[in-house]
Amino acid sequence: MLVINYKSQISVLLTSGKSSSYRSSMGFDQHIEQVYAHLKGNLKCRPRDKEWRVAQLKALRRLLQENDEALCAAMWKDLRKSRFECVATEQGIVLSEIEHALRNLNSWMKPQSVRTPLYNQPGICEIRHEPLGLVLIIGAWNYPINLLLAPMVGAIAAGNAILLKPSELSQHTTQLLVQLLPQYMDSDLIAIIEAGPAETSILLNFSFDLVFFTGSGAIGKIVMSKSAQNLTPVVLELGGKSPALVLADADIEVAARRIAWGKFMNAGQTCVAPDYILVQPSVKQQLVSEIKKCLHQFYGAAPQRSLDYCRIINQKNYDRLISFLVGEKILAGGGADADDLYIEPTLIEGQWNSLVMQEEIFGPILPIIEVGEIEKMISLVNGKPKPLSLYLFTRDRSHQELVLQGTSSGGVSVNDVVMHMPVPGLPFGGVGASGMGHYHGEFSFKTFSHAKGILRKSTWMDIPIRYAPYSIRNIKILRWLF
Ligand code: NAD
Repeated sequence: MLVINYKSQISVLLTSGKSSSYRSSMGFDQHIEQVYAHLKGNLKCRPRDKEWRVAQLKALRRLLQENDEALCAAMWKDLRKSRFECVATEQGIVLSEIEHALRNLNSWMKPQSVRTPLYNQPGICEIRHEPLGLVLIIGAWNYPINLLLAPMVGAIAAGNAILLKPSELSQHTTQLLVQLLPQYMDSDLIAIIEAGPAETSILLNFSFDLVFFTGSGAIGKIVMSKSAQNLTPVVLELGGKSPALVLADADIEVAARRIAWGKFMNAGQTCVAPDYILVQPSVKQQLVSEIKKCLHQFYGAAPQRSLDYCRIINQKNYDRLISFLVGEKILAGGGADADDLYIEPTLIEGQWNSLVMQEEIFGPILPIIEVGEIEKMISLVNGKPKPLSLYLFTRDRSHQELVLQGTSSGGVSVNDVVMHMPVPGLPFGGVGASGMGHYHGEFSFKTFSHAKGILRKSTWMDIPIRYAPYSIRNIKILRWLF
């Protein structure tokens, strides 16, 4: 496994301004050319058959198992992520994807027969899933293991060569991965590269067979437009404002506990975290007081001292989040400590048109907005770009159907939050502004494969009606054959 460390060049870029970036960029250019040529060259001569895929999946499993503590320690340094959250939401999800792939690889790889229409008889039709080739996976910082390595499981299962580009913001985890991956994976076909925005932009000049990107919509647009120059397909795993609708008939105690867990895990820096709550007026007070109670149970009277509560990734995001609180009515929390990048779990009385409702929050601030009618909730949700997830709390099946049919989102949990995401049998991805393409389980395998349609025909019979000179008489037969 090949590793390139551009830390020194990146720091030149960051500290010496634009004038030196050309020189540094040239350096990166040459290095990336080498990595690219190495992977591309090996693609032609190295088989990525079932044995290779199984060996790589097992190697990745070993990496995660043997380095569990070091990975948790790195994520503690980056985000103050607790060991429990690391195991449950990072390594655990990747390991579950690996097990699922190992169990199902045989059947995924098997050619799939499809019915052969009469006009192609005698013949056989089948679909074969072939590797796309060389794929680039660009990760995000908020789940630096999960969002880089879970897609990688699919890319391996489908037999691709892989270039990994972790986020520069989760620097401790990124550096550990850069050190560990070469010790476990096949360097001829799998490489990892450290790169910031400027270097990633250079990377995107190269022609990949797929770019799998996780991050914000703004950068997603850059990735897509650069990839378009090479006609490279993209999967964009983006974010958005995922709503939680709470109806009066819901079990409010359970709803509060689940929402508080999903929102404040990772200090709200979760793409599928509930972004805001729409709640029916008769249960709003109860919901607020139950969430407050849960926050106290989860993180104690002083969440800053809790070992289970994360920090904001950097000053820029801290400042962005603090700006959302200006002029808002705080229902709970509101405390912050810039030196510690700490923002207390905070509930605010939401206003539909306030600043905090204009963009994805991606932090521990939860606006709660009273809305009377379910139809009004649906129309408010539909007035915003399609979210990555939607959450609905109600026991009423007809209300569940109303919302499921009346809204569009990447995924849905009814009477829960986040929990649809790790299920390997469910596709995970966005729709509209929240992304394109999906992965997890077999969906990953298919995303990283080309489904090749194959017709194998016999030559012993050659029905002549398709050949010129055409006969009107044969149109009838043609219609029957189709
Ligand atoms: P980001 O878009 O800032 O960065 C993502 C990646 O893009 C990083 O690896 C970064 O190095 C790279 N990048 C940054 N600038 C670039 C440029 N100019 N050209 C090319 N590449 C560039 O996102 P982020 O801050 O890491 O993550 C936050 C966003 O990601 C939120 O919107 C969140 O909802 C979304 N997200 C989505 C998912 C998902 O699975 N759908 C998961 C996590 C985060």
